[in-house]
Amino acid sequence: MEKKELILEGKAKRLYTTEDEALVIQEFKDDASAFNGVKKGSISKKGEINCAISSIFFEYLESYHVPTHFIQIQAPNEMLVKKVDIVLIEAVMRNIATGSLVKRLGFQDGKALDHPVFEIYLKNDDLGDPLINEYHAYALGIALPDEIRSIFRITAKVNAILKSFLERRGLILVDFKLEFGRDEKGELIIADEISPDTCRFWDRKTHKKLDKDRFRFDMGGVDQAYQEILERISKI
Ligand code: ADP
Ligand code: UDP
Repeated sequence: MEKKELILEGKAKRLYTTEDEALVIQEFKDDASAFNGVKKGSISKKGEINCAISSIFFEYLESYHVPTHFIQIQAPNEMLVKKVDIVLIEAVMRNIATGSLVKRLGFQDGKALDHPVFEIYLKNDDLGDPLINEYHAYALGIALPDEIRSIFRITAKVNAILKSFLERRGLILVDFKLEFGRDEKGELIIADEISPDTCRFWDRKTHKKLDKDRFRFDMGGVDQAYQEILERISKI
C-alpha cells in the first residue's frame, strides 16, 4: 500500500493516508525527544528498530486476543495500521517505581511495587500531559466510564502478557504507556507504538537500563540498547 497524504507529524512518527480510507501508514522517525519535547536529538536506526519492536509486541498481543491497530510492516520503518480516533489519554502501568512516580510521590527509585500502579494522563502537550483521574476524563468528555474500565482491563492484560514474555528473555518490564483509539465500530483498540520510547526495560540481572532513559539522562549507548531489545525479543 502506497503512502498518500501526510495527515500529521508528531515528535517520533508521521502518519499518512492510503488508498484505503480505513488504513493509515505510521512512519517511524529517528528523531528522539524527552521531557515534553524540551530535550531533542536523534537515535541511529531508531525508526526501523522501534517499528520492528512494536510489530513483534502487537503480533504477540494479538495472539492473546488483545485488539491492536496493527496490520503489517510494509517497509523497515513503516507500519500499516487501522485508522482510529485517538482517545486523548495516555494509560501508564508500573511494576517498579521510577521516573515521575519517584519525583511526584517520593517512592524509592527501583522499588518493586507489590500492586502494579495504573495511571492516566491527559494527552495534551500544551498542558504537559498532566496526570488526571477518571472523573477528569468524564468531565472533559474524552472517555466514558465503560471505556476507562476497558482501558484499565486491556492495560492490565498487556502488563501480564508482556511481563512474562520479557522475563523469559532476561528483561524486566518496569513501566509502559499505551494509547487507545476507537475503530470503525467504536471498539477500543491499542494504537501508536510499544517500544523502548514508551516502555522502560531493565536487564533482569544487572538492572542496566535498555530504553529511552539512556537518552533522557545522557547515559550513552542508546542505539545499542534499542538494538539489544530487538535482538532479545526476536528470539523465540
Ligand atoms: P507525539 O508527538 O504525540 O508523541 P508521535 O510522533 O508518536 O506523536 O505521532 C504519532 C501520532 O499518531 C500520535 O498523536 C498518535 O496518537 C497518533 N496515532 C497513533 N496511531 C494512530 C492510528 N492508528 N490512527 C490515528 N492516529 C494514530
Ligand atoms: N511515557 C511515554 N510518553 C509520555 C510519558 C511517559 O511513553 O509522554 C512512558 C515512559 O517511557 C515510561 C512510562 O510512560 O515508560 C512512565 O513514565 P513517567 O511518568 O515515569 O515519565 P517521565 O516523566 O519519567 O518520562
